[in-house]
Amino acid sequence: MGVLEKVPVREQDPAVRATNFEEVCLGYNKEEAMEEASRCIGCKNAACVKGCPVSIDIPGFIGQVKEGNIEEAYKIISEASSLPAVCGRVCPQESQCEGKCIRGLKGDPISIGKLERFVADWAFENDVHPEPPKEKNGKKVAVIGSGPAGVTCAGDLAKLGYDVTVFEALHELGGVLVYGIPEFRLPKERVVRKEIENVKRLGVKFETNVVIGKSVTIDRLMEDEGFEAVFIGSGAGLPKFMGIPGENANGVFSANEYLTRSNLMKAFREESKTPIMRGKKVAVVGGGNVAMDAARTALRLGAEVHIVYRRSEAELPARVEEVHHAKEEGIIFDLLTNPVEILADENGWVCGIKCIKMELGEPDASGRRRPVEVAGSEFVIDVDAVIMSLGTSPNPLISSTTEGLEVNKWKCIVAEEDNGKTTKEGVYAGGDAVTGAATVILAMGAGRAGAKGIHEYLSDK
Ligand SMILES: Cc1cc2nc3c(=O)[nH]c(=O)nc-3n(C[C@H](O)[C@H](O)[C@H](O)COP(=O)(O)OP(=O)(O)OC[C@H]3O[C@@H](n4cnc5c(N)ncnc54)[C@H](O)[C@@H]3O)c2cc1C
Ligand code: SF4
Repeated sequence: MGVLEKVPVREQDPAVRATNFEEVCLGYNKEEAMEEASRCIGCKNAACVKGCPVSIDIPGFIGQVKEGNIEEAYKIISEASSLPAVCGRVCPQESQCEGKCIRGLKGDPISIGKLERFVADWAFENDVHPEPPKEKNGKKVAVIGSGPAGVTCAGDLAKLGYDVTVFEALHELGGVLVYGIPEFRLPKERVVRKEIENVKRLGVKFETNVVIGKSVTIDRLMEDEGFEAVFIGSGAGLPKFMGIPGENANGVFSANEYLTRSNLMKAFREESKTPIMRGKKVAVVGGGNVAMDAARTALRLGAEVHIVYRRSEAELPARVEEVHHAKEEGIIFDLLTNPVEILADENGWVCGIKCIKMELGEPDASGRRRPVEVAGSEFVIDVDAVIMSLGTSPNPLISSTTEGLEVNKWKCIVAEEDNGKTTKEGVYAGGDAVTGAATVILAMGAGRAGAKGIHEYLSDK
């Protein structure tokens, strides 16, 4: 293989993996990782680092992998990231670090994500963990939500010596990493739980089943429980629907509910106490990562699955790798197609989805060509379940119970990008709760910025 081509990564065969929930990508072994690392030319003013929202020293860690010093490589990554095994698996590297890699100008960019994943997995296997702080400063900070934003903020503050407690509404830690992204892309026990264990080793305390805004408010945490600052990383978990006739029929799910039942409640297992409806033919409406995850989950549960998306393939917002994997596994893509009604039988159960064909018109505000209905082109796809995957927005519970916390018209918390500062003194925010549904690495970047903002605030206080 030439230096222009990346070392291929091993994957489960599509026909086999379409019937199981095991991880699709098998990752590099040490020899493969060292070979891929040797393609990196260690640029001085590395473009890849500018594409990384948490500024990992990419040439630094890859240089160590090249020499076989994996522990050193792990130390370098850990300085900037609390969740490398997660990011190596789910970050959209093609539009971030790898999208900027100089090698990509002529040939394949370096597989930075796969190298990051290899280093993090090696650290798990060899019992190597980030160093806890030497000294504590005694100042208490509360973090709301244990998703990537909250966990990153908590980890960074703990490294600076703060006494950090994370409050999580659910019974499991990890946010979307545990309830949204499926096992076959991101193993829960082997990866997510272990990365959170590492944050616990830094001294961060976690309290589950605490819904801020119901169990206790932010004002009470600050006034009665001695927390000097609060970071809100509560995500954007409220699903959107289309508002078309029939959306209340039995067998219509939001992708959030469907994936939460499968991932968090383990409904995909035969012995699960909370089973999920196993459709025979399922339509998933939407074209993002969440739609791909819902479709590939329904496929593994035995259904024929159609993605129904109103624009063309070029506009699919999902990662290229996810679309590729979905196609390989046999998901059918009904593109330039929009649902207009969900049809139900006499007992109220879904029996079809009525759609209309679309064509692309002039570009809209987002720069993408606007889909326009083709008159008289309605048709019905016979399905027994429909999964709506149209995006999510933040739950207004926290903003409606916190005096002085400003939100915008989408109920996203207003916060400064550089430091997470909100309109309420001592309260910082970041991640999907501020931006609306985005990505793991952007949430982590916001968690880092929030930790920096809180540190500055409490240092000056
Ligand atoms: C199915 C799916 C697939 C995705 N795939 C990808 C991908 O491949 N790559 C990628 O980069 N991104 C992906 N994303 C997006 C990514 O997961 C999110 O952008 C990211 O998790 C946001 O992090 P966060 O910490 O802001 O919020 P979350 O991960 O949503 O975490 C918020 C946490 O706060 C808790 N919480 C909420 N309200 C309260 C409250 N009142 N009190 C206490 N706790 C509360 C929630 O229970 C949750 O645990 C995907 C999202 C979904 C849903
Ligand atoms: S831009 Fe590419 S080649 Fe240069 S340091 Fe980054 S990964 Fe290596």
